[in-house]
Amino acid sequence: MTTELPSPIHIVGGGLAGSEAAWQIANRGVPVILHEMRGLRMTDAHKTDDLAELVCSNSFRSDDSVSNAVGVLHAEMRLAGSLIMQAADRNQVPAGGALAVDREGFSQAVTHEILQHPLISVVREEISGLPPQEWDNVIVSTGPLTAPSLAESIRAATGADSLSFFDAIAPIVHRDTINMDVAWYQSRYDKVGPGGTGKDYINCPMDRSQYEIFINALMAGDKTVFKDWEHVPYFDGCLPIEVMAERGFETLRHGPMKPMGLTNAHNPTVKAYAVVQLRQDNALGTLYNMVGFQTKLKYGAQTDIFRLIPGLENAEFARLGGLHRNTYINSPVLLDPSLTLKSRPGLRFAGQITGCEGYVESASIGLLAGRFAAAERLGKPTSPPPPTSAFGALLGHITGGHIVSDEESGKRSFQPMNINFGLFPEPEPGSVVTTVDGKRLKGKDKTVAKRRAIAARALNDCRAWLEVAG
Ligand SMILES: Cc1cc2nc3c(=O)[nH]c(=O)nc-3n(C[C@H](O)[C@H](O)[C@H](O)COP(=O)(O)OP(=O)(O)OC[C@H]3O[C@@H](n4cnc5c(N)ncnc54)[C@H](O)[C@@H]3O)c2cc1C
Repeated sequence: MTTELPSPIHIVGGGLAGSEAAWQIANRGVPVILHEMRGLRMTDAHKTDDLAELVCSNSFRSDDSVSNAVGVLHAEMRLAGSLIMQAADRNQVPAGGALAVDREGFSQAVTHEILQHPLISVVREEISGLPPQEWDNVIVSTGPLTAPSLAESIRAATGADSLSFFDAIAPIVHRDTINMDVAWYQSRYDKVGPGGTGKDYINCPMDRSQYEIFINALMAGDKTVFKDWEHVPYFDGCLPIEVMAERGFETLRHGPMKPMGLTNAHNPTVKAYAVVQLRQDNALGTLYNMVGFQTKLKYGAQTDIFRLIPGLENAEFARLGGLHRNTYINSPVLLDPSLTLKSRPGLRFAGQITGCEGYVESASIGLLAGRFAAAERLGKPTSPPPPTSAFGALLGHITGGHIVSDEESGKRSFQPMNINFGLFPEPEPGSVVTTVDGKRLKGKDKTVAKRRAIAARALNDCRAWLEVAG
């Protein structure tokens, strides 16, 4: 007796996310039709027809699952039977504590596994508009370089403000690394906005000589150059800070570094010459972004220069600033917790287009979207990962954890993000080692102990989730 197969799930885009989603779905007994345009049409960054091509670095970053957030995500993906991690592990090249891969071997291994899977068909074609309605269960995972006609259709369906073609990212700092003996909480003019308290920003003051040193460092700092095809425009209102600094010594202190309406709580009688403001970035309150500090400075230069800011001398950055070509949607507004477009049931997004960043993160969101889509097709409930797991922390950033809009400007503020410990809930107090050999842990040692507790909890909770979710 033959059992009838469920009808297929369509996936648009066979990159890191689409390949992982296809694997997860097919391994649950549901057929997949994977539509990939390369073979007929290239993107500006891809070079081959292989699925899951790595467009730049060959590194999946740290493989340390004990104290590194992306290492925890690797471990969770391995537990969840990830194709991307299997192919990476089999094609590993030496890279110290990082997981780096032979890029061709890696993509060829993914392509081989997908092509030989009896439930997956790969169709080489460009999907040039929103998927047709008769595709009742579909995942769009077309990545940062989504073909223009599809991108335009997504924009038309979701609203002009809902799709970005560039990211203009300001650095994000772990709140517990900001020196509050120097910085203070205050909103400009103590204004209490919707949901605010009048103390919503962290403020870092500068005197004139500190400001001068900072401006000179900005202008001298190493900058990255755009690739020819990126055509990244400089929009008014989101100019890189180093470009603003070049326009005149005073430009920044009349812009994002203006000191007006702020009184230094540690030194109320002395007016700061300039102030750097940081605004809460996630609902957990563990991350703060540097307001108006989008930049093209190289990463090394950013850490050196931003640590010149009083209060940020020991800052740890959850992500550094950047300006790239990148297609991504305003997920916290548009998607539900199972990555489904609220306005069109059955249509999910996955990968970098949802506002995660990086190979591993994109693949892991593909893994979740695949599992959710398969459950839906099989008439089962979609089982979300616990928020304490790396999967859950990343999904939370995309679908809910982020502060949605900027009260001052009213603009959307969702920006792409790598996995990092700031996205996880704080560890339970009793779970963190506080003393070693009778000595209390301080500074970096305390931070590492906290991260270890978060990592251990994530893996435990992920295991428990997978035992139930399968
Ligand atoms: C220039 C550049 C450099 C990068 N460097 C790094 C790096 O060093 N490290 C890192 O971790 N991340 C890097 N990234 C981010 C990286 O692209 C993503 O992390 C990852 O590839 C995203 O996976 P994805 O599956 O979402 O998209 P992709 O891997 O890009 O896959 C999307 C797929 O969809 C296909 N597609 C697009 N439109 C259509 C359509 N209309 N119809 C059919 N198919 C379509 C594309 O051909 C592609 O195969 C870089 C991105 C860019 C643009």
